[in-house]
Amino acid sequence: MAHRALDEALDSLEGIREQPAWRSFSEVLQRRLAQPIPRGPQPLEEVYRELLEVVLPYSLGNRHPRFWGWVNGTGTPLAVIAELLAAALNANVGGRDHAAGFVEERVVEWWRELMGFPLGTGGLLVSGASMANLVGLAAARNAQAGWDVRRLGLRGGSFRMIFYASAEAHASVRRALELLGIGHGCLRLIRTGEDFRIDLAALESAIRQDHVRGDRPACVVGTAGTTNTGAVDDLAGLAAICRAERLWLHVDGAFGALAVLSPSLRPLLAGLEAADSLAFDLHKWMYLPYGVGCVLARREGDLRSAFSLVPEYLEKMPRGVATGANHFSDLGPELSRGFRALKVWMALKVHGVEKHARLIEQNVAQAQYLAQRVESSPDLELLAPVSLNVVCFRFAADLPEEELSALNREILMRLQESGVAVPSGTVIRGRYALRAAVTNHRSRREDFDVLVEEVVRIGRELVG
Ligand SMILES: *Cc1c(COP(=O)(O)O)cnc(C)c1O
Repeated sequence: MAHRALDEALDSLEGIREQPAWRSFSEVLQRRLAQPIPRGPQPLEEVYRELLEVVLPYSLGNRHPRFWGWVNGTGTPLAVIAELLAAALNANVGGRDHAAGFVEERVVEWWRELMGFPLGTGGLLVSGASMANLVGLAAARNAQAGWDVRRLGLRGGSFRMIFYASAEAHASVRRALELLGIGHGCLRLIRTGEDFRIDLAALESAIRQDHVRGDRPACVVGTAGTTNTGAVDDLAGLAAICRAERLWLHVDGAFGALAVLSPSLRPLLAGLEAADSLAFDLHKWMYLPYGVGCVLARREGDLRSAFSLVPEYLEKMPRGVATGANHFSDLGPELSRGFRALKVWMALKVHGVEKHARLIEQNVAQAQYLAQRVESSPDLELLAPVSLNVVCFRFAADLPEEELSALNREILMRLQESGVAVPSGTVIRGRYALRAAVTNHRSRREDFDVLVEEVVRIGRELVG
């Protein structure tokens, strides 16, 4: 049964281009899943057949070469092997002395070096960039408070800590600050320029105003690759402001930070290496299956002092299983942790950094190509500059703004329902945009031709 499932899983990847990019999970199918609790056993064969019929064909579609919605990774056959082995091993990488912990340590060390962070940096793998942002901002909060936040909570101080990010920052930053008790009332969303990067003068002025008000500026969150447009904040500029103002610099580089792998794209990210903490995903632009991200903190001690808690049942011993190495549970909020490092380790070893860099460059070139096709089409309009791998555009017609937004929403839904391609949508400066975020190693140039042609075809049909 396992052999058959493996064969069919790999076949499903091999044939993915011939499948629709998405099919709706109909109400009929939903009803089929609404079954009572299985009290007794059922033959594996039968359950497997049900999976083949009811579950596996109705995926989100992010493995497909024409899926560019939100920011989704594609997954690789190599990672299927890694996940199979990791599940068979069932390692708990919370701590203690076993090889899996050393593999994660190595993976984090590789990323430390790739991201240009110094020795002494600490880090760990987490479920994704939302969690990585939470961990990095928890370290920032505790280090910047100046009192013992773990003992006293936020009431231990006589001032409010203020965090700053651009208006284009990801919602997970706000949610992290809500969870950390900071509250989003203490998050200043700074306006961006024409290029959708944070306006440094506006940031400096907001910091000054908070000082005057008696609040305490604590941390700036820079974004390397915004979700809406892929813009990269001026990280060197942010680092300089943070140094001068003694603020913590956290960078959310969920997908954009991966561009450091490419020598030609790296200059875009200058200043990244100066961050106090950095969050990035490996399930987006490293094409690995969910869920894996990484958080780095420039001084490992900042993570340790935010999270380490060693009750007697977790006491470390000089010898035996419970030695002192690899206790990732001291650096983050989770105790039991899966072996998510294995797929990262295998991908880096089998494919190498350079192939990942070439794929990232290929995606950036594809985004540029799509932007050119949009600009050369009289029916289409580019809505934001393309600095990395995200393209925002719309079908343009001589209609009032509101009708144009409704028209483009309709184009998007029809396109997705057709299964031909899956971009997503967003709103750029009040205008509804079709948005393609290219983190897909299966896309070919002609896939973007199909997208352009279909948007134009559907748009003309609707207008006509
Ligand atoms: C996707 C994304 C996140 C959230 O990452 P998850 O892996 O979905 O938790 C945070 N920031 C940015 C810029 C993102 O694109």
